[in-house]
Amino acid sequence: MGLAVSGRVAAQDCQDDFIKPGGPFVPETATINYNAFTSNEELYETLEKLDSRSGLEYESIGETWQGRDIPYVRAGDGDPDVFYITQQHGDEQHVTEAALRLLQGLASGGRRSDEILDELTLHVVPRLNPDGWAPADDNETPTRANARPEDVCHDGPYFGSDQCGPVDPNRQHYFGIDSATLADADGIDPDVIPDENPSPETQALLDKADEVGADIITDWHHQFTYRNEDCEMINASTLWPLNEAAPDEAVALSRQISAYAYQQTKGYGHTTWDRYPGGTTANIARNAHGVRGRGSVLFEFRGQASQLGNASNGRLVTVINNVMTEVLEGLASGDLYDVDPADADSLPPRGDYFWKELPRSEWGPEHEAYRE
Ligand SMILES: [Zn+2]
Repeated sequence: MGLAVSGRVAAQDCQDDFIKPGGPFVPETATINYNAFTSNEELYETLEKLDSRSGLEYESIGETWQGRDIPYVRAGDGDPDVFYITQQHGDEQHVTEAALRLLQGLASGGRRSDEILDELTLHVVPRLNPDGWAPADDNETPTRANARPEDVCHDGPYFGSDQCGPVDPNRQHYFGIDSATLADADGIDPDVIPDENPSPETQALLDKADEVGADIITDWHHQFTYRNEDCEMINASTLWPLNEAAPDEAVALSRQISAYAYQQTKGYGHTTWDRYPGGTTANIARNAHGVRGRGSVLFEFRGQASQLGNASNGRLVTVINNVMTEVLEGLASGDLYDVDPADADSLPPRGDYFWKELPRSEWGPEHEAYRE
């Protein structure tokens, strides 16, 4: 930007289009090339190769609305059972690339890998929502939601009756939680809970987590670009369960995971954190797993597909992979459990939405309202 900035600058003093570092940003007129990312077909092939050449076990845990396999990989044989879920939202793809890099590293073996996989069992769902990603394989914009057909409808206590068409997998995690608990904590009408989950992708995950006795579930997403009061680009955000029905021990463990990730990586390049401003209801994955008594953490990174495309791909995948690896190592070594859960409160507050081409005076509600 050519701006010389000395010392700390208050947020209100950040010029409209100034941010550190100064990019990259995609011009709004640019065509985004999705071929830089792993296609659904390549994903399944990669996981099959990992299964046949290493101790990692790959299987499909169900089918999407369009009949695609929902991929799942299991590695290690220790306690606890730890889940990494990526790409619930089809248009949030760098987290899947980072998860593949993590799996390939673990599959290649060595002391570091053994130290993790002796101490815990890792369960990875790399791309929970392959239908949402599918348009990108034809270089079209992927979708956040799944592919429930327009003529298929369900009632929903959180969104009203007779909802039809694509649905957000991250809003369908309340299935299986006691309806009286949901009514009490969220004020919903338990009589409109449908028999069938409108997200078969979500239900496949919930079933697998129950089957193996998940202790910890981490959920990996992308968000738009934010700027902190030092005019720095925020690349990483995190949050723990906020629903009042989540047991204290589950919330404490979740806060330890968020705090540990922040403490271990805040000194790394391009890893500037804030606290994600998420909701409280138990239909959201982060809250639902917490209500079930699990450690449950949301991680969000810069890189929403429609905004960033493949710009900054390598840097982002490295940032995410570092966080994924640090959390696993902290769980395996036990260091993570030494963190004071209260340390999560040291995460900086939410930054300001930032879009280089858009001065603050032109930010609308749609820029503020993006949710996990
Ligand atoms: Zn998301």
